[in-house]
Amino acid sequence: NLTQRLAKVVKTMRGEARLTETNTAEMLREVRLALLEADVALPAVREFIAKVKEKALGEDVISSLTPGQALVGVVQRELAALMGADLGAAASQLNFATQPPAIILMAGLQGVGKTTSVGKLAKFLRENHKKKVLTVSADVYRPAAIAQLQSVTEQVGADFFPSHSTDKPVDIALAALDFAKKHHHDVLIIDTAGRLGIDAAMMEEIAAVHTAVKPIETLFVVDAMVGQDAVNSARAFHDALPLTGIILTKLDGDSRGGAALSVRHITGVPIKFSGVSEKMDGLEAFDASRMANRILGMGDILALVAEAQKNMDVSAAQDLAQKMKSGGKFDLNDFKAQISQMKKMGGLSGLLDKLPAQMQQAAAGANMGMAEKQVRRMEGIINAMTPLERAKPDLIKASRKRRIATGAGVQIQEVNRMLAQFEQMQSMMKKLKGGGMMKMMRSMKG
Ligand code: GDP
Ligand code: MG
Repeated sequence: NLTQRLAKVVKTMRGEARLTETNTAEMLREVRLALLEADVALPAVREFIAKVKEKALGEDVISSLTPGQALVGVVQRELAALMGADLGAAASQLNFATQPPAIILMAGLQGVGKTTSVGKLAKFLRENHKKKVLTVSADVYRPAAIAQLQSVTEQVGADFFPSHSTDKPVDIALAALDFAKKHHHDVLIIDTAGRLGIDAAMMEEIAAVHTAVKPIETLFVVDAMVGQDAVNSARAFHDALPLTGIILTKLDGDSRGGAALSVRHITGVPIKFSGVSEKMDGLEAFDASRMANRILGMGDILALVAEAQKNMDVSAAQDLAQKMKSGGKFDLNDFKAQISQMKKMGGLSGLLDKLPAQMQQAAAGANMGMAEKQVRRMEGIINAMTPLERAKPDLIKASRKRRIATGAGVQIQEVNRMLAQFEQMQSMMKKLKGGGMMKMMRSMKG
């Protein structure tokens, strides 16, 4: 897991203000391994690492982040960009700018999900774009394939143009086109045969269909589970056909989806949709940022980093660190400030929610709900004190304790316990030498 790996390295990078060749080398090595583990092809990994390096070097590290976190930020940003984040919502749009019908040609190996995706697309285009859709199968090798397309087409309420396994794929496509024109269909989706491996005859056949009907969209369908093999099929189809987009299927599986990066690297065309179930509603517009996080295996850790940047009162935290460094004492005013800081970030359990699963498991034993309740009671007690008492807790003797307890609505014993706990914390803070809760949170985030 990349998060765990990086956590190690992040620790060694604390306190550096800039990303440099040396302090990023080890991190980048880990990122490289993580990508290879996610089944991204080596040339794609190499190109990506080189790009990250170029972007990262010399970048200033925002004061609320460690250099490690800053680099993770660059990695995520670049990966999302490579996945097509910069293309924006337009990336998942299909092109209809043509004399109807707009023809969509499906390409890809057998079993990747072409026929299923035709059904999903037909449903999507009918419901979201109010298009009149016709489908046709040019898969003449398996009679069951034609019946399968008919079944999914009827399921989503689109029109189906019957074909026969004795017909030629090009003739089938032309006949369907003719029919679509006559019946004013907005869209014609052509399903094709896929072999188990790439073979020249298959490529020639689909290229011939392409030449005959000149589709406005040629979508390469690829299975997210296949990993490294995606590279070879992507290259073969990219060489044979002018692809316009990719559908990445079976993302509901447990693959990290490294194929997405490889396929983008080779074809350069946008990933338009993801398939997320066998059902007809299992089609989503492709989300580049989410995919980047999935490939990196980072949970929502980046959301946490982003939130920390947004919410942390950086200067207050720095003031405290400065105070501690110059021998100042951590007092109850500081504690109060840190509690409110933590609340801004959604409290202890809010923090926990954003950690990747493995780290959540590790933290589960800590009984966050209990800890949170305690923190709230402590806060109530601190609020009942005067600023002077917070600055000099030694002043708090019997009569002051009674007043505070009444103010906070607790027993005197609880005030005593709170003060004892605070003393403990104070000595722990001294050991940490500054940072305090900030530091604790940083080590969680790494
Ligand atoms: P084709 O040979 O490329 O036409 O592939 P099919 O459309 O026949 O799909 C092959 C298998 O993959 C079928 O069992 C589909 O139900 C399944 N499938 C297709 N897309 C998805 C998907 O996004 N998620 C899951 N879980 N299964 C899918
Ligand atoms: Mg099929």
